[in-house]
Amino acid sequence: MKIGIIGAGQLGRMLALAGYPLGLRFVFVDQSEDAPGAQVGRIICGAFDDETKLAQLADEVDVITFDVENVPVEAVRGIAARKAFLPPVSALGASQDRLHEKTLFARLKIPTPPFAAVDTFDDLQKAAREIGVPGVLKTRRLGYDGRGQRLIRKMSDLDEAWQTLGSVPLIYEGFVDFSREVSLIGVRSTTGETRFYPLSANTHEGGILRYSVAPYRNAPLQKQAEQYLKRLFKHFDYAGVLTVEFFVKRGRLIANEMAPRVHNSGHWTIEGAHTSQFENHIRAILGLPLGSTSPIGHSAMVNFIGELPTLRNILRIPGVHFHSYGKEPRPNRKLGHCTVVAASAGARDRALRQLLRLKSA
Ligand code: AMP
Repeated sequence: MKIGIIGAGQLGRMLALAGYPLGLRFVFVDQSEDAPGAQVGRIICGAFDDETKLAQLADEVDVITFDVENVPVEAVRGIAARKAFLPPVSALGASQDRLHEKTLFARLKIPTPPFAAVDTFDDLQKAAREIGVPGVLKTRRLGYDGRGQRLIRKMSDLDEAWQTLGSVPLIYEGFVDFSREVSLIGVRSTTGETRFYPLSANTHEGGILRYSVAPYRNAPLQKQAEQYLKRLFKHFDYAGVLTVEFFVKRGRLIANEMAPRVHNSGHWTIEGAHTSQFENHIRAILGLPLGSTSPIGHSAMVNFIGELPTLRNILRIPGVHFHSYGKEPRPNRKLGHCTVVAASAGARDRALRQLLRLKSA
């Protein structure tokens, strides 16, 4: 069996690494011929909206998936009509526009921060008055890792934010004074079999995920988050891995966003769960039995952003697992990550502190 992946970033690379032991082969479409996926599969070099290259990919694989959300929906409709394309195009489309995504959450009774569409400066003033400040102004499309957002602390911040972001459709959201951020990763097979990983607690810095700790044990929140993902699974008739990021405020979940793909906050599952999110994604889109999502111990995952510590210093940490994505260092670029899996939460937290010190060294 051959799997086609649109996008050959680190997520695509880790999908292929998980699939090789199962005897699967991988081909990617990516604009860059030396993207991380090139180390583990062939890249058909082309833009995500290059329908000729996408058709070429479709011709040679059994199922198509993607490792990025900015794959233009219109460009993939053709291949999705004649080849299995999973997760469904509808889920990809919903995740690309923060306004559609939040409107869908609201329809499915998944709590969100208060939000309003902003197309004019008047809309922005009205939204900030009605929803209140502080708030966050975000581009509806193509925002990720904190890009395309402005924190609005007071009404007088609106002008500057509008100057910076106002050329594209926007969304204004109430600022959530959260006690923590968590994500739930679920997986649903084409057969309908569904499993969930334990919640992961995520710490962002400058809008980018710095580290995750899992399992984050909180039975009521786990149950609530699973119910929300089940609604999304049903809505989309979903297959593959789905991630939803939530804020936790006063013991309740507020959905921030969904990603119809494997997720950075689930990298710990490679060593910290019986079956990784990557392997389960592949099993799910092929209709194979899913693997256990149970954690093996207490995991922490730390991202290396902008620069990598030396290999020698990383490997000095007992029990560390290191993943380098083979990318050129650049500010704010995710270059690799480390995971530790410990027998107790205390031992995990000690190892996490070591890893974080390494990062800033
Ligand atoms: P996003 O790109 O929407 O995932 O935002 C990146 C990060 O910015 C989130 O993980 C939060 O830490 C923060 N953030 C985004 N939206 C809000 C909000 N409405 N209230 C508080 N913090 C937010």
